[in-house]
Amino acid sequence: MQLKMALAGNPNAGKTTLFNQLTGARQHVGNYPGITVDYKEGSLQYLNRTIIITDLPGTYSMTAYSAEELLARDYLVNNRPQVVINIVDASNLERNLYLTCQLLELGAPLVVALNMMDVAEARGIEINAAILAQHLQVPVVPIIARNGFGKEALLSAAMDIASTQQQWNPLNISYGDDLDGTLKELVAKISAESLMGETYHPRYTAIKYLENDEQILAKGREISPQTAQILEQIVAKTADHTYRTLDVYPEALIADHRYGYIKSILRQGVISRKFDADRLYTSDKIDKVLTNRLLGPVLMLGILFALYHFTFSWSETPVAWLENGFSWLGDFVEQRLPDGVLKSLIISGIIDGVGGVLGFIPLIMFMFFGIAILEDSGYLARVAFMMDRIFRIFGLHGSSVMPFIVSGGIAGGCAVPGVMATRTLRSPKERMATLLTVPFMNCGAKLPVLALLIGTFFSENKAQYMFLFTLLTWVVAMLAAKLLRSTVLRGAPTPFVMELPPYRFPTIRGLCIHTWERTYQYVKKAGTVILGISILLWAMMTFPGPPSDVANSFQQKRQAVLDAAHPGVALALQQNSEPLADEVRLLKERLTEISNAEAEVALRHSIAGRIGIGMEPVTLLAGFDWRTDIALIGGFAAKEVIVSTLGTAYSMGKVDTEESTSLSDRLKADSHWNRVVAIAVLVFIMFYSPCFVTLVCIAKEASWKWAAFSMTFNTIAAFLMAMAVYQIGTFFNLG
Ligand code: GDP
Ligand code: MG
Repeated sequence: MQLKMALAGNPNAGKTTLFNQLTGARQHVGNYPGITVDYKEGSLQYLNRTIIITDLPGTYSMTAYSAEELLARDYLVNNRPQVVINIVDASNLERNLYLTCQLLELGAPLVVALNMMDVAEARGIEINAAILAQHLQVPVVPIIARNGFGKEALLSAAMDIASTQQQWNPLNISYGDDLDGTLKELVAKISAESLMGETYHPRYTAIKYLENDEQILAKGREISPQTAQILEQIVAKTADHTYRTLDVYPEALIADHRYGYIKSILRQGVISRKFDADRLYTSDKIDKVLTNRLLGPVLMLGILFALYHFTFSWSETPVAWLENGFSWLGDFVEQRLPDGVLKSLIISGIIDGVGGVLGFIPLIMFMFFGIAILEDSGYLARVAFMMDRIFRIFGLHGSSVMPFIVSGGIAGGCAVPGVMATRTLRSPKERMATLLTVPFMNCGAKLPVLALLIGTFFSENKAQYMFLFTLLTWVVAMLAAKLLRSTVLRGAPTPFVMELPPYRFPTIRGLCIHTWERTYQYVKKAGTVILGISILLWAMMTFPGPPSDVANSFQQKRQAVLDAAHPGVALALQQNSEPLADEVRLLKERLTEISNAEAEVALRHSIAGRIGIGMEPVTLLAGFDWRTDIALIGGFAAKEVIVSTLGTAYSMGKVDTEESTSLSDRLKADSHWNRVVAIAVLVFIMFYSPCFVTLVCIAKEASWKWAAFSMTFNTIAAFLMAMAVYQIGTFFNLG
């Protein structure tokens, strides 16, 4: 017979690590609370039985505060696993046992896995598992999930529980005279009506009523409105009483008593410290400096600045290699293939398109590697902790920080997991404000555009500008959040406690895996989605082509120039004998000019060109010419396409005198582009509509109405900002 087993625990307690140890499944192990919101399933064979294991989302509690808590609880009561393994971080026992306490109150058949015994030991904490087990009255097995220590013992304890404990057995904790009395009253009523009797024990339902659990309250009202009304009246009376006498609501009293219960157990000799009790542990010592109120943010900015500096300076050479490689490839094809549509497709559509994206791989890898160090060492959690103070000012929540960082708050994330990570937020309004502002961050797809334009127009101060543009995304996101939270999403803030996992030395292997996983995503996208969109855009930029009389007139012009030249000069050009004499070079330049003009006319006649030109009168207010418009439209599909489309637009419009040059050189040479235009374009790209996939994701997480809002609001706001930059910059002649 199959056996169902669930893993429950606080975020970062090591659930996923244990899950992988048990099932052998490979998946991301990281510190983002909320990235594994959907639970994962795996299976394992043990003593000839198949065990189905579910990795529940990490939660601190079992109340309907967040989507994860709800998901974990619903899974437990609806699927009734034969055994629940509660993973507890031994180095942080008191806090972790809060969830244990609630699992016991729920009555689930429990085995406590005391994880991170190595960390506890390193910090001089000794834990007596036997005493803990005796007081909790469930098996407690010390393990180290990272290396598999204790796995066998854990499985065997779990099998014992699964085969002996058939009934759910809720633990009764006393919540003090006031509440215990009310509970009795509630339980009597709930049992009499057998309200939700098949799902919860009556006392559990009663506690949830006292805790104001929205899901349970709603269910009660649905099943039996009269009973629900009576229950809610009893609760209201008690709440009123405790508030008047003790100045707290029942939920807080309940939490206090749970902590009291845990403390009383821990005092029985469960924990002993080898070191002086008030001695600061290394992590705490580091945190004294790194999260210091004044020094912390300064160091944080310094660390991020260093990250950009190293990323740009170390990746410079490999990026140049790749760029040269692609332009060599372009030249190679240029010389081998006959002129025509196929050649144009390969050079302008594929090589310039995909090459433009792939050329940034070294930069992206260095950036991801740096971020992996920040993440794996535990510093990213400190960043979240420090940002929390700022977030509150703007109506966001501490839990909003991770979605922002996941979306590219430091650089190079993706708004799709960012939007999904907002599920950790309890308050729907804070969640919505976060969800709508995370797409402002510099995701991995915007990086190439940033790198291209910064590299082209601000090459002396790349890291500084990268840093400035990153700060700008935060400023804009915060202001937008504040705007949303004081208009359409008005509402009070919710409290928040942030857990700081101890610092860990990142392993080279972990860093490489993280870097590779993310880089691979990028490469895969370039080879599939981006390639497809690139070809589509190329087709839009190529067809229907100029009318035949236009083509003929260019042909005639060319002929006229050749005819006018001295026959010897024309012959020398044909033979291409180096070095070119002055007259020959002159002739070549004239011919090139004609070809350029012809290519431009062709592009103007194409579908995309017509759209771009149609938009130009408006977009010129922000300094975007019609070619840029084409690229920006492509960016609605995926932001990577912006660089590749610019590449295509500018490679089709220009045939260079010498061998083909990089997009960067072409932009620099183009009379339309300058620093002000570059900044205006960047500002627009950073803040305009989220890409299509993100919009779909927003629609799924919120609604199509919000997705449409996000698309139009962002695009209009971005355009206004870009316009301001361009107009002011041009006025002061800063280009
Ligand atoms: P989850 O959020 O509960 O899924 O936690 P994870 O499995 O993602 O683990 C969080 C972090 O703790 C990861 O960096 C793990 O490598 C680390 N970790 C997990 N178990 C242990 C352990 O027993 N010892 C040590 N030192 N680290 C661990
Ligand atoms: Mg996990």
